[in-house]
Amino acid sequence: MRLILLGPPGAGKGTQAQRLVAKYGLVQLSTGDMLRAAVKAGTPVGRQVQQIMARGELCPDTLVVGIVGQRIDEPDARNGFILDGFPRTVPQAMALDRILAAKGHDLDAVIELQVDENALLRRIENRIAEMKAKGEALRDDDNAQVLHNRLKAYREMTAPLIAYYRQKGVLRPINGMASIDEVTAAIDRVLTLKSAADGLARAESKKKSEQLSS
Ligand code: ADP
Repeated sequence: MRLILLGPPGAGKGTQAQRLVAKYGLVQLSTGDMLRAAVKAGTPVGRQVQQIMARGELCPDTLVVGIVGQRIDEPDARNGFILDGFPRTVPQAMALDRILAAKGHDLDAVIELQVDENALLRRIENRIAEMKAKGEALRDDDNAQVLHNRLKAYREMTAPLIAYYRQKGVLRPINGMASIDEVTAAIDRVLTLKSAADGLARAESKKKSEQLSS
């Protein structure tokens, strides 16, 4: 299964991705995590993106596409993955289409977590307060001004992907304002429907080829 989780910062992509990993044995490919790891390790890529990320802006498409393209080729991702935080721009989505097409793969679904912006701000403020209370280190980009930039980047650069994937017929909108368990259940329904539809399509094409050969 090859899935994309799409939604603004704080929509719950990471939480749902972890549940999908546990349930379906898929790997979670989070570009945010990969880029943060590069920053932490002080690699050339990390040095290039550190300031961009701290401002809440988007890293260059070519850089992010390169990272994802390599990661998708690793053995643990061959049978399926959940992309979390990628693609974030139309050029990234087009590059992903090319990468998958070259391997003869398709996207199974783009799960769009729909949330309202005021709720997002509250969620992220809560997340920051919880982390502070636990004495955990905050992310450089978890503060009000940077959050504003992250939401702006989402609206301007990432939201157009909703139309892009709707047009391709793979968009599956889900109400991200429901409880975590309800969102998980809604995603499960989408994936169950999808595999039933795939099974039906396979049976149809088998029947057709049998008819042709008899
Ligand atoms: P969020 O919780 O805001 O969704 P992520 O952890 O997905 O954040 O990403 C953090 C930062 O990493 C982004 O603000 C951006 O600077 C960078 N980043 C992550 N994924 C991408 C991407 N696909 N394209 C460009 N920049 C990215």
